[in-house]
Amino acid sequence: MTKTLLMAFAATVCLSLDAVAQEAGAAIDAAATAMGTTTLQSIQYSGTGTNNSVGQAATPGGPWPRFTVTKYVTSVNYTVPAMRQEIVRIDNETPTRGGGAGPFNPSTGQGGIRPIPGDIIQNQNTDGRTEIGALTIWLTPHGFLKGAAANRATAKASPARGKTVVSFVAFGKYTVTGTIGDRNLVERVETRMDNNFTGDTLFEGIYSDYQDFEGVKFPRHIVQRQGGYPVLEIMVADVRPNSPTALDMRGNPQRGGGPGAAPAAAIQIEPKQIAEGVWFLNFGAPQSLLVEFNDHVVIIEAPANDERTVATIAEVKRLLPNKPIKYLINTHHHSDHAGGIRAYVAEGIPIITHEAQKRYYEEQIFKNPHTLNPDRLARAPRAPVIEGVKDTRVLTDGNMTLELHLTRGNPHSEGLLMAYLPREKLLIQADAFAPRPGVPPLPSPSPYTVNLLDNIQRLKLDVARVVHVHGGSDPFEALMTAAGR
Ligand SMILES: [Zn+2]
Repeated sequence: MTKTLLMAFAATVCLSLDAVAQEAGAAIDAAATAMGTTTLQSIQYSGTGTNNSVGQAATPGGPWPRFTVTKYVTSVNYTVPAMRQEIVRIDNETPTRGGGAGPFNPSTGQGGIRPIPGDIIQNQNTDGRTEIGALTIWLTPHGFLKGAAANRATAKASPARGKTVVSFVAFGKYTVTGTIGDRNLVERVETRMDNNFTGDTLFEGIYSDYQDFEGVKFPRHIVQRQGGYPVLEIMVADVRPNSPTALDMRGNPQRGGGPGAAPAAAIQIEPKQIAEGVWFLNFGAPQSLLVEFNDHVVIIEAPANDERTVATIAEVKRLLPNKPIKYLINTHHHSDHAGGIRAYVAEGIPIITHEAQKRYYEEQIFKNPHTLNPDRLARAPRAPVIEGVKDTRVLTDGNMTLELHLTRGNPHSEGLLMAYLPREKLLIQADAFAPRPGVPPLPSPSPYTVNLLDNIQRLKLDVARVVHVHGGSDPFEALMTAAGR
């Protein structure tokens, strides 16, 4: 190519890039004018619908459990920016399936186990000055247009079946894409954000049934999805553009993660022996447990994240320096219980779990890209070794015996494993029984707990104490009482 041709080529590329940016700018401006975004400083909208507990599906890889939302009020102050969601929900799915009870709260008597009685208050503040906070606000219809305008330099537009697709890159790594319909209304917004368990995770907002509220267009129907499944569906009843209440909201600088968020506290694992060769490795909830064999140990549960796994492995090395970790046992696929499994694989430690979870881990958890926030396994990839249990698996060296059993048919999670130590008469269980100290019993026994007891009786296990992966233990009689026997 001659020098002249090269220059002409470069000029054409610049021109076309410029044209793309101009086209994006025009689409953003047209939508901002049509929707009334330009003069919108704040908004408050309310309605009713459903929301879902992410990471708590009944089936590995299945939809998030659904709750009915009886009150939903969102306030956005675009000038900070900051957002507050006030949600009241009730646990009325029949039958109740999956997790999402949250930790037990002695002041409300809620949490620990489903179904949860009464109104559940779920308020959430989002600080739009953090990366995740900004993305959360940009996923809303007017928020998208404000984000696109602020990131105009990277915005691109392309036609798609009578619609315009505008995308921009934020913070150098997040691509936010909005679909603007033929009436210049934002119909859909999507981006990917990091989830330490599921990796680069798709977040979507789908907006329809637009109506005019004092010159501002707003959707009457909101659907938000995470990882392909709904997390929120609201029928909007009331919209207040430039709401003074929303404008008064200043946000909470500690929320939302990213720059400006407080650094996480250092993890301090506190080992607590509960029987010969059995230890709690306590930190927050859920916990890991250690079971000691002659020349190795196994760890039950890998909660939370990489940092937790690293701290747990370090504590095991300190406690029993000559006994390597032979297996990590995973009771079920919920993110609070399995968020740390990727770091065990990074250490080359095999996982034992139920076969229902094995497939989910192999096809999704160990396959999803982690490019937005690479964890240890993403930085040093390694093939997972996962052993799938069908009904029962016994680990023994003649001295210590650890049995794993499927908690058959438990509504909390398909493939929920429980661990039983026959010599110690200990049953280690996750999320099928939760003590409720200091509050009256549930109106009727939780089907999760009834099912656990049915399984213990089916397997003829001789249990003296029930140990909870979420911390603590109770005599077997407490489980009997909770199950209404
Ligand atoms: Zn769970």
